Amino acid sequence: MYENQNHPEPCVKCDVENCIHNNHQCCCTAKEIKVGPQYATAQCDTVCATFKAQK
Ligand code: SF4
Repeated sequence: MYENQNHPEPCVKCDVENCIHNNHQCCCTAKEIKVGPQYATAQCDTVCATFKAQK
């Protein structure tokens, strides 16, 4: 059976505290996230497509 000990779950650190997936401790709790767009030339060109605003 595959042991995952050498590959721990990655933690996405995110400061977007008004997203429902943010645990307010700089960490994303979503099982997976999608980041886009398909092409970027700088850090500021990318965004998280999984963002969902808190109500
Ligand atoms: S879904 Fe995206 S925006 Fe929301 S907490 Fe996770 S990484 Fe941040």
